[in-house]
Amino acid sequence: MAADERPRDPAARPGPGPGEHALPADVDLAAYAEGPREECGVFGIYAHGEDVATLTYFGLYALQHRGQEAAGIAVADGQRIVVHKDVGLVNQVFNESALASLDGHLAIGHTRYSTAGASAWINAQPRYQETATGGGLALGHNGNLVNTGELARQLDGVVGNDTELMAALLARDVDVSLEEAIVRTAPQLVGAYSVVVMDEQRLHAFRDPQGVRPLQIGRLPAGGWVVASETAALDIVGAVYVRDVAPGEVITIDDGGLRSRRFAPPDPSFCLFEWVYLARPDHRQDGGSVLFARRSMGRQLAREKPVDADIVIPVPEAGRDAAAGYAAEAGLPFADGLVKNRYVGRTFIQPTQSLRQLGIKLKLSPVREIVEGRRLVVVDDSIVRGNTSRQLVAMLREVGAAEVHLRITSPPVAHPCYYGIDMATRAELIGADLDVEAIRAFVGADSLHYLSLEGLIASTPHQREKLCTACFTGQYPIPVPGEREQLAQVAFDFTDVR
Ligand code: SF4
Repeated sequence: MAADERPRDPAARPGPGPGEHALPADVDLAAYAEGPREECGVFGIYAHGEDVATLTYFGLYALQHRGQEAAGIAVADGQRIVVHKDVGLVNQVFNESALASLDGHLAIGHTRYSTAGASAWINAQPRYQETATGGGLALGHNGNLVNTGELARQLDGVVGNDTELMAALLARDVDVSLEEAIVRTAPQLVGAYSVVVMDEQRLHAFRDPQGVRPLQIGRLPAGGWVVASETAALDIVGAVYVRDVAPGEVITIDDGGLRSRRFAPPDPSFCLFEWVYLARPDHRQDGGSVLFARRSMGRQLAREKPVDADIVIPVPEAGRDAAAGYAAEAGLPFADGLVKNRYVGRTFIQPTQSLRQLGIKLKLSPVREIVEGRRLVVVDDSIVRGNTSRQLVAMLREVGAAEVHLRITSPPVAHPCYYGIDMATRAELIGADLDVEAIRAFVGADSLHYLSLEGLIASTPHQREKLCTACFTGQYPIPVPGEREQLAQVAFDFTDVR
């Protein structure tokens, strides 16, 4: 059985529904600069007397980095659920009149990660589903299931993506509440999932027993409740962090307050890559700060592999705090030698072939005044396929860098992620087949050092046994059907290294 059994053919999926519009072919310029892509941010709120749609909008705004393809909000007022969603950034999908039409006291919201292509709209969340009892539910999730084929068979072969399958499974029982349906259904879901789901009266949030993707609970000053992928989304709406949704826990929020049930014993395997790259630096989790963790990664890099250099520069954004840590530990100056074009993202303008060949230049520009004639330590979060790092080094040399010493705040990414991060296939991962010296030669750096796994883990508040490290080690905490077959794929083509 293939690891990812989701349908690939957009034609096999339903098109836009009544009143919904098809979109022109669009292009994600960010896709031309490689890198891991986040897969979704989720938000939920239960608060009488508050404008829950607008608060959800701001929550999604804070989670925009977790997905730029599509955004959506579902609101309920005790009687009915209304959903508004579309492709685009949060501020493109919603305006004041759209938010004003979403009236109620509970809501969920979702931002979706970037992919190009016409199937974008139908993957937008929240997903609305009529239930067997004649009501409705709306669901949004972050993560990836690895047993979708098995789940689809339970539904008489109804083909669907993770979201559609989860919504259909939760909606099929006639005689139970949504809370009970979650407790019955969640143990059948295999993979990573942090889910917000609501019916007309109640908000629920649940998280897989490994807690791979984050999900946190906050309290509003007037007494309402908020759940979100990251603390930044709690902060922006004025909610105070209470605790994480525990792995294997479902919480239910209604007029009676918040209550908790377990559907599985916790067996934590928190995503290590959230600390390296995915989460915002102002995110706090399990007593740790992402910003401080990244500073610590940089300090550790400087201890593991010092080098004679003139200046430390980050590859924005995830490399910034680590570069500051490296510079402090090494006693070197720190400067922004690369400027990020903050507005690269989704565009409806088709780039020409020559524009595509600009690659990373669409995203980053070197500052000649800082780079020219200097021996640089360049701090980045990861190397995926290697092409971006290669272009980056070439670009720095073009503006006169004397030396380029690459320092990476994670070990080599050598295995794909099946739990919700779109990195690359194994055959595309440069770290899967080449050793560090061969990768250095490929990217053209004067030296290259990856942070050790031990150094990375020591920078987080977690013990190794409570972390997923699969993309670095190949040790998958949740068995992935078909992973052995994936290992037999064609290896990375490194003919131009030799
Ligand atoms: S494989 Fe890597 S990116 Fe995926 S959940 Fe595990 S640590 Fe995170």
